[in-house]
Amino acid sequence: MKKNKSKGLSRLFDFAGNRSPLIIIGCILSGISAILSILPFICIWFVARDIFNSLPNLSDTSGIVSYGWWAITFAVLSIVLYFGGLMCTHLAAFRVEKNMRKEAVHKIVDLPLGFFSKNTSGKLRKVIDDNASLTHGFLAHQLPDFVGAIIMPIAIIIILCVFDWRLGLVCLVPLFISIFFLKSMMGGSNANFMEKYMDALEEMNSSAVEYVRGIPVVKTFQQTVYSFKNFHNSIERYRDFASDYAMSCKFPMVNFSITINLPSLLLIPIGVLFALNAGDYKKFLLNLIFYMLFAPICVNMMNKIMYSGERIMIAKEALNRLDGIIDCSQLEQPENSIEIFSNNIEFKNVSFSYPGNDNKAVNKVSFTIPEGKTYALVGPSGGGKSTIASLIPRFWDVDKGVIEIGGVNVKDFKEEDLMNKIAFVFQNSKLFKASLKDNIKVAKPNASDEEVLKAVHLAQCDDILAKFPKGIDTVVGEKGVYLSGGEMQRISIARAILKDAPIVILDEATAFADPENEYQIQKAFEILTKGKTVLMIAHRLSSIKDVDNIVVISDGNIVESGKHEELLKKNKVYSKMWNQYLSSIEWKVEKEGVR
Ligand code: ADP
Repeated sequence: MKKNKSKGLSRLFDFAGNRSPLIIIGCILSGISAILSILPFICIWFVARDIFNSLPNLSDTSGIVSYGWWAITFAVLSIVLYFGGLMCTHLAAFRVEKNMRKEAVHKIVDLPLGFFSKNTSGKLRKVIDDNASLTHGFLAHQLPDFVGAIIMPIAIIIILCVFDWRLGLVCLVPLFISIFFLKSMMGGSNANFMEKYMDALEEMNSSAVEYVRGIPVVKTFQQTVYSFKNFHNSIERYRDFASDYAMSCKFPMVNFSITINLPSLLLIPIGVLFALNAGDYKKFLLNLIFYMLFAPICVNMMNKIMYSGERIMIAKEALNRLDGIIDCSQLEQPENSIEIFSNNIEFKNVSFSYPGNDNKAVNKVSFTIPEGKTYALVGPSGGGKSTIASLIPRFWDVDKGVIEIGGVNVKDFKEEDLMNKIAFVFQNSKLFKASLKDNIKVAKPNASDEEVLKAVHLAQCDDILAKFPKGIDTVVGEKGVYLSGGEMQRISIARAILKDAPIVILDEATAFADPENEYQIQKAFEILTKGKTVLMIAHRLSSIKDVDNIVVISDGNIVESGKHEELLKKNKVYSKMWNQYLSSIEWKVEKEGVR
């Protein structure tokens, strides 16, 4: 059963697990330390009082020394307890930080792949990494300080009223007024400041990562940062937002600083006024000294409250953001495996729109790929080919209609079973910074070295291994190890061959047009797809002439389908595309002939 999750800062206890008592112990120790930190000042006042009372004869000041010792004892105790408290909150904070990262990363693995096209790696890194660190900092340092800052005013109010209530009021009234300014800084239109601030930071982070990735383009086309509108705009938005916030805090902040410092300013003139009517001048003077000693502590305390308030806002928002990932809906999946007896794929009236976009990327699409056949999707860019292919392995779930494999709705497969049925070769295959062997074994971790080498051979990758002295153990991304786009795609075909899944989805590469690579990739594709149910997103019409069926997609709809010859006879969309393709080849040949 799903456990009810706490909200706000109480989430800290969830993440701290069995270390959560340390949070409470840390806060209690910090609170006691705050009270103890006031006591040395009282001892000093007692020292002052005794000296005052025994003037001019200073020989009878035996109590002074013991007050001095008490003051030192309280100060040392306060420091020891404070560090004890910090140790507890640090231990809890390390656990919280670890569990926040662990839970988010764990969750991410189970999210639908489509989630990652919406959330860039830069944004995700920021949400997980930075928010876990922010929460660590808050719990380890600011929470104990905040508890101290809350306990102190209570103790101080009591103390201030005990000695001389009138001087007490001189100190307390400005402090109460300062709370009003504090609230106006953090409340009103600034209440959701932290949410907007973090949005702006995340946006800047994500566009910075995109910008760094696009630096080759920037360099090639001699562009500047201004040409990367997203990055530039996000910096400007952040700047505008931060300066608007700073400006909105200008008056409350100045007023807050003035009011918390007022007691120090007012005590002497008001003290002089009261002194005129005081019966016992000595006692009154002593009390005045006491209040003058305490006024700076109040300033310190109010500053701590202000910064702690800000830190609480940050920590709450950090926890909310991480929960935003943790609460993302996973794809629902059944508990039990289903056995199927064929690997045909059927789209039944499937419609799909990307989240936040009303346009249908796929509109009422129906077609069936019989087991063992190869179907190709062709059509203009942006027509919906990749989206159709990505719905089969449930990178996204369809809005309407059903996709079935072997007569079973893809939603009724366990994720693991569905993934085992499908090998996906992406256009821009990603390789990890690991050996070629480990990169290929991702498809089947328990594969033997012989199996891996066989897949490498079948995927026409022998020449890649021959290039590097370490062969299959060459680490991708190491100094001097460079793989071209075509080579990377062949390695990813080796992966798919090793997986040996009954269904293959191919996003045919367009970028790697050099004849040598093209020939090898084509050959590797043929081996990979032999006897499999294949859906191919075709960018070059030459490669699909012999497929079992061609489905032409435009604006999310099927506009025609059939074999190459049939579609040519129809003389509609496909035949136009084919003629365009032929004339582009002729043009190329003519151009090369002219050279
Ligand atoms: P094709 O593969 O035919 O080039 P796509 O399936 O990539 O077409 O795109 C179909 C439509 O869906 C396009 O309008 C495209 O802009 C949109 N689209 C593709 N991917 C996403 C995404 N991750 N989020 C939002 N819209 C998308």
